[in-house]
Amino acid sequence: FFIALEGGDGAGKSTQAEALAEWIRAKGHEVVVTREPGATPIGKRLRAILLDVSSAGLSHRAEALLYAADRAEHVDTVVRPALERGAVVISDRYIDSSVAYQGAGRDLAPTEIARISRWATGGLVPHLTVLLDVDPETARERFTEAPDRLESEPAAFHQRVRAGFLTLAAADQDRYLVVDAGQQPEDVTTVVRHRLDQLLPL
Ligand code: C5P
Repeated sequence: FFIALEGGDGAGKSTQAEALAEWIRAKGHEVVVTREPGATPIGKRLRAILLDVSSAGLSHRAEALLYAADRAEHVDTVVRPALERGAVVISDRYIDSSVAYQGAGRDLAPTEIARISRWATGGLVPHLTVLLDVDPETARERFTEAPDRLESEPAAFHQRVRAGFLTLAAADQDRYLVVDAGQQPEDVTTVVRHRLDQLLPL
């Protein structure tokens, strides 16, 4: 079973990934918590390039392809093998992040970004995508470290990314769960657990 956690920066994805993993493990399942970009050795190098402030002039198409390369390596070496041995995989970001950031956030066509990701992943789609939706200004207050290259983008960029995620979720309500991530983290976890209880006989 494959779960993707999506949302803007500071939405609480990694906190939720850990909380959900602990709950699923307690039921006796193997859980692999992973992330994009940067879950693999090659991915870590791509992540460093993508987030370094010195990449400020990176072409938008090159940026989209580097995220796709990270995703291809991630799916081939981490996600698919885990799913094949029956593990539950929780990925902190997946295809929708590319559609929202490189598509809606930048100036590239979201449908083309989705097509590149489909190819990169061999068509692997999550069973459930959880969108942790939060106002970017609220999320910014949660940052504890210095902002990376993307987090330093203007507010309008992050508003477009948020709208991009919401558009994706609205188009496929069976696969998505949109949660108000402005709530307390425990309340967010409860909402997601409720949906998972309906989907999986965990
Ligand atoms: O979620 P995480 O903090 O690991 O993401 C790293 C950075 O990469 C964030 O600033 C995020 O906005 C950016 N990002 C992006 N496009 C993606 C995925 C992440 O711009 N497809």
